[in-house]
Amino acid sequence: MNPTLQRIQELTALLNRYGYEYYTLDAPSVPDAEYDRLFRELEALEQAHPEYRQPDSPTQRVGGAALAGFETVRHEVPMLSLNNAFSPQDENGVFDHAEMYAFDERVRGGLGAETPEYVIEPKFDGLAVSLLYRDGLLVRAATRGDGASGEDVTQNAKTIANIPLRLHGGNLPDLIEVRGEVLMLKADFAALNRRQLEHNQKPFANPRNAAAGSLRQLDSKITAQRKLHFFAYGIAQQQGGLTAAEHIQELAYLGELGFSLPYGHFGCFPDIDAVLAFYEKMQATRPDLPYEIDGMVVKVNSLAQQETLGFVSRAPRWAIAHKFPAEEALTIVEAIDVQV
Ligand code: NAD
Repeated sequence: MNPTLQRIQELTALLNRYGYEYYTLDAPSVPDAEYDRLFRELEALEQAHPEYRQPDSPTQRVGGAALAGFETVRHEVPMLSLNNAFSPQDENGVFDHAEMYAFDERVRGGLGAETPEYVIEPKFDGLAVSLLYRDGLLVRAATRGDGASGEDVTQNAKTIANIPLRLHGGNLPDLIEVRGEVLMLKADFAALNRRQLEHNQKPFANPRNAAAGSLRQLDSKITAQRKLHFFAYGIAQQQGGLTAAEHIQELAYLGELGFSLPYGHFGCFPDIDAVLAFYEKMQATRPDLPYEIDGMVVKVNSLAQQETLGFVSRAPRWAIAHKFPAEEALTIVEAIDVQV
């Protein structure tokens, strides 16, 4: 068989297996850096040979299937993934930001005469959740699932202390769908794993898997015992309330409505060089943050410009996940028997 086609088929099957372990079972068998490396190899091969792309290619879809046992929620606004960019460092620690400059070029190319401003936020290493509020009250929480439909985790989300059950402030929307990330703080993760070991139970591989495993519990009493946090990073749909023209205004509005934001760790910048300086600073402070982040997310600030740029199959053109170098040790996944 043609070796390129064979490799594409191998990578498709392997990445689909890893994706199932990660998204559906919350039990990855390889570190994220390995998954990312294989994913990029597949993307490059498919780009060179689109005719060999498999119908079930992971490059064409988002996340994984919903767990049986939960009600299914169809997302009116799809929950997408993000394209990635990496900045390798040389032996002196100097970054090569070529992929981010290429992103900036693509954005500028798409905007013609207009220049973009960028918002940069932490890329939280948890799981994406959508929260729907009607008349100020939380009525539904859902996981991303495969992007088109996810799991109804409303009862579990209600146990998360910093998710407002009723929105705050005076300028309330009639309806708002907030997107954000559920995660476990590093300290709570360490305490949870200590308790697991004390009770002769398996420890979790990392805070991301602990958060996902804790939220996707059929018994919400278990979720309530695990300390989870929610950080908001966007609005998917809204009726009434503030009319924002910029993403940074949306974030400020989410803060007013009572959501936690990563204060001190996000900002709006006039150009890509300012973004990259902030990225480098955040990478240096990454070990001191209370939660895990695996990079920064860079988004075009103007909502009108976001609309102009639009989407490719599984990700917006107006945003990118600017990943940090791999930190997660291979050994952590391999050395311990991981809790599902
Ligand atoms: P992604 O995690 O790279 O990016 C999309 C997600 O980023 C969103 O769904 C959202 O949950 C999250 N996010 C965090 N902070 C955000 C912010 N400020 N703004 C917007 N979104 C934010 O994409 P993905 O498709 O969820 O997963 C791909 C990644 O998952 C891979 O890069 C890999 O690292 C990991 N993965 C690992 C394995 C494995 O076996 N180890 C398998 C599959 C996927």
